[in-house]
Amino acid sequence: MTGRSFRIARIAGIPVGVSPWWLGIVVLLSWVLGGSYFPDSVAGLAPAAGYALGLASVLLLFASILLHEFGHALVARRSGIEVEEIDLWLLGGVAKLRGEAHDPRDELRYALAGPLVTAVVVVLFGALAAVVGTGSTVLGALVRYQLFVNAAILLFNLIPAFPLDGGRVLRSLLWLRFGDLSRATAVAAATGRVFGAGMIALGVLALLVGALDGLWLAVVGMFVFAAAGAQSRSVAVDTTLAGVRAGELMSAPAEVLAAGTPVDQAIAEQFAQARHVAFPIVEADATVIGLLTLDRVERLSPPAHRPPLRVADIADRDPGLIAHEEDDVTLLLRRPAFQRVGRLAIVDPDGAAVGLLSITDVERALRAARLAPRERTTPPARGFGAPTGRHG
Ligand SMILES: [Zn+2]
Repeated sequence: MTGRSFRIARIAGIPVGVSPWWLGIVVLLSWVLGGSYFPDSVAGLAPAAGYALGLASVLLLFASILLHEFGHALVARRSGIEVEEIDLWLLGGVAKLRGEAHDPRDELRYALAGPLVTAVVVVLFGALAAVVGTGSTVLGALVRYQLFVNAAILLFNLIPAFPLDGGRVLRSLLWLRFGDLSRATAVAAATGRVFGAGMIALGVLALLVGALDGLWLAVVGMFVFAAAGAQSRSVAVDTTLAGVRAGELMSAPAEVLAAGTPVDQAIAEQFAQARHVAFPIVEADATVIGLLTLDRVERLSPPAHRPPLRVADIADRDPGLIAHEEDDVTLLLRRPAFQRVGRLAIVDPDGAAVGLLSITDVERALRAARLAPRERTTPPARGFGAPTGRHG
């Protein structure tokens, strides 16, 4: 949902990126502030000065959101959670963490760190407002806007709707109480969905009576609703598959294709016979060099329009497509290559193919586990996670 972002800086070793959406917001917000808020607040303001103040306000807002995210990121890093990057996108900032806290107290600390930073920012602007006033001066209007928008960010993030900060606080407290992350996530995610649905309903209602701000509320509501569901599924998968190795779920033995096999022969004898939709491609010494999928074969031009090819020529050689029998399935699920292709070649310690692991194999295991649930276990300590800690 964040889309592609551009890296603009690296602060304290953490990359900072902005999405094209954010650049759109900067322009739009500067336009609105410069075109109406500042001219309305300060009498006799030149139009150019209004837009300059609008842009300055948006950049200041950008800085306070970054501070909020760094609050989360630095505290998370101190608890041993790797911080991938901080992104500014459509609805604000997001600190992308790799993995979840191992301890509810850690999650409580990093969930509170962002709002705490914003609270400090609000107090500082409040103090500044007390000094310069919030009247119809340039400085007064600037300070008033920052005070308002940071207070709004603070209140919004404290809504107990997982995955907002308040929801994360709620989850960590439930986790402390239940001693069970998946149960705590289920309750917090359910709360998040209720709040998300409520925001959508309120937003639509506001739109119906002509308040355009309702659109924003509805969009955020949809995001909260979807994200709460995704987070709870991800934790459920981690809990169910904790400690499961690739070798336990793969389909074996692997049918392989020798690297030198002509593509046309592979099509006629394998793909056209609907035998499998992917084959590990192996060298003469049996080591796997890549995966050839039906998708790749389908993209080829007809034989008359291309030179004769060998399967090695068109195999997908992404090293992420090769995994070991002993690899942890919950980690493999996070591999971009696995998510892209839906299959992995599983190899033994010598690099020879022993099987194929597909998303279908994993789904089958998850469904089987639902029929015969195992004893609840603590989640894997090294659950490299989907982005966590998104904020508006
Ligand atoms: Zn936050």
